[in-house]
Amino acid sequence: MNSLLKRHIYVLAADSLDGRRTGTAGEQKAIQYILSQYELMGFNNTNKNVTKQKFEFNYGYEYTGANEIRINDIAFKRDVDFFPLPGSASANLDLKDVRYAGYGIQAADLNYNDYSTLKDSLAYIISLGSPEGENPHSKYYPYTDVSYKIKTAIQHGAKGIIIINTDSSRYDDIKKDFTKNAADKNIPIVFLKYSAASKLNLSGQKPFSAQLTIAIRPVKREGTNVLAYLNNNSQNTVIIGAHYDHLGHGEDGNSLSGGAHEIHNGADDNASGTAAVIELARILTTSKSKHNNYLFIHFSGEELGLIGSKYFVEHAPIDTASINYMINMDMIGRYQQDKGLEISGLGTSPRAFDFIKKIEYDSLKIKLSEHGVGPTDHTSFYYANIPVLNFFTGTHEDYHKPGDDAHKINYDKQVSIIYLITQIIDSLNNKGVLTFSKTKELNTTDMPAFKVKLGVIPDYMFEGYGLRIDGVNSGQPASNAGMQKGDVIIQIGDYPVTDIMSYMKTLSMFSKGSKTTIRFIRNNQETIADLQF
Ligand SMILES: [Zn+2]
Repeated sequence: MNSLLKRHIYVLAADSLDGRRTGTAGEQKAIQYILSQYELMGFNNTNKNVTKQKFEFNYGYEYTGANEIRINDIAFKRDVDFFPLPGSASANLDLKDVRYAGYGIQAADLNYNDYSTLKDSLAYIISLGSPEGENPHSKYYPYTDVSYKIKTAIQHGAKGIIIINTDSSRYDDIKKDFTKNAADKNIPIVFLKYSAASKLNLSGQKPFSAQLTIAIRPVKREGTNVLAYLNNNSQNTVIIGAHYDHLGHGEDGNSLSGGAHEIHNGADDNASGTAAVIELARILTTSKSKHNNYLFIHFSGEELGLIGSKYFVEHAPIDTASINYMINMDMIGRYQQDKGLEISGLGTSPRAFDFIKKIEYDSLKIKLSEHGVGPTDHTSFYYANIPVLNFFTGTHEDYHKPGDDAHKINYDKQVSIIYLITQIIDSLNNKGVLTFSKTKELNTTDMPAFKVKLGVIPDYMFEGYGLRIDGVNSGQPASNAGMQKGDVIIQIGDYPVTDIMSYMKTLSMFSKGSKTTIRFIRNNQETIADLQF
């Protein structure tokens, strides 16, 4: 298998595929290669067939005409002062009775309601944050979500919404964070930056007047999932999946290379998982066990926000109730003995997956996690109440950078990981249909990434005290502070950093430009450095 894996990964991560960005010619070349592999395995009849599943999605928007807003006769300029939020409709509205709804929070559980003294109106101005800012330890934290504020305003009759930043310390050059895929809201929704919002007299009792002229059109993109179905005439189907798309040259703003526009080959992320799906298909098509049907899926659009796997779950060509469980592989090519292999999702069917705690193969060091939610495609299946297992060998200094190349893959260990997965599939064959369980998850859906960035690649699998980093991104705060790969962060300012969760919470306590210190361990020596966000 070693030489087959090598061939798949060298082809998929070649420069000629141009980084396999969703919707490009490079992605089409990857599809051709994947299809050719299934054809060689005889996927050309009703019991073994391979199909393409195309999907169209909105990704940000473009301006189609003049975009202007005026509030109480103060004119605001597009992009300088405001920008429409994705999901906003185009409109030309002249509104006379626009009310300031404070933070736009209506929280019965907290006995707090910004709408209690307002009469329902056609439009609202709403501040970001809460009476306690955006502190994740605050009881208001769940109500700081922008999507929540929009939904609540619409319930109060809003036909237009102006979200404003009233916190001078908050970084608000955030258009890029909002250029993602967003559901259509059918009304105009704009965001006003701090410098512009500070021109409004929010303490006055009189309603505002506002003219909103918004002319935008969502940018349509297309991706393609590849589905190979092995019908064993079972009632149930097991999904084995991995995304094959990658970053192209970083055009979508998801590269960590600091602005270089080289090809991002994505050998580990995720030619490694793609090759593994193909080889698992080879093993399972010749297996004598017919307990399940198998659907091998190569997802697109993962790097843009799990778009291909979400689309699959919502438009599955098989009954999703017949899906027994889902196995996902994302980055399984850089096994290192100190970090090991992470298998997550054990909590999504605890009794069925319990045996995995004792499983061994070829001295692989295995780390287990209960969580059904993570930054890759199994999450889409977890949210559809399907038991999931995700396999991952960890981040590294080439993560989302042009250096993620085929010659750096640990092929021997990747073979071991694939055989370990076949052992797990075999053991699950005796367990019938798996029962789904929800796991404890931190809800971060729709959270706009407003917060400061440290510019490090966290080691999600580090189990010691603190946050170990797998790399730093040049020109960003951590690298400016002299930090290096392997450093373990233990404190930022006054906040101790004990693990990845406390690291994320700590970051949200700082704003752009703020100066503090960072404490970290390097070669068993504690170091302190000045840090500026
Ligand atoms: Zn990936």
